[in-house]
Amino acid sequence: MRACSPAGLAAGRRSDVATIRTLDVRVQPIVQAFIKMLSEAGIKVTVTSTLRDPAKQAKLYADYLAGRSRFPAAPPGKSTHGSGLAFDLKLDPPAYDEAGAIWEQAGFTWGGRFRDPIHFDFRPRS
Ligand SMILES: [Zn+2]
Repeated sequence: MRACSPAGLAAGRRSDVATIRTLDVRVQPIVQAFIKMLSEAGIKVTVTSTLRDPAKQAKLYADYLAGRSRFPAAPPGKSTHGSGLAFDLKLDPPAYDEAGAIWEQAGFTWGGRFRDPIHFDFRPRS
C-alpha cells in the first residue's frame, strides 16, 4: 500500500456513497451477500461507485491521465461500471487482499490484479 496523505485520500475519493440498486439486477444479490460476509468479518464497508454514465467515466479517465487519481480508470465505453457490472468498495480496515481473494474464489475479476484494489468486477476471472 502507498502511504496515505490527506491530499492523496482526497484525490482517491471517486464519489461519496453509491447504491448497489444501480447495478445490473442479476448481480445485486451477489453484491449484497459479499458485503454481508465482509461486514460479519468486522470490516466496515462503503460502496463508493457502482453504475457510471459516460460523462462521469470521461471525467474519471481525464483525472487518471492527469495524475489526479490514486486509482486507474478506463476510457468511457471500456469500463464495466458503464454496464452496471462492477463496483468499488472502501474497506476499513483496508482488507483489500482478503476481499479480493474471496471475490476471485467466487470466479470473478478483482482490480487488485491491475493496481485497482477497490474495484470488484463481474467479468469471469481470467
Ligand atoms: Zn471500479
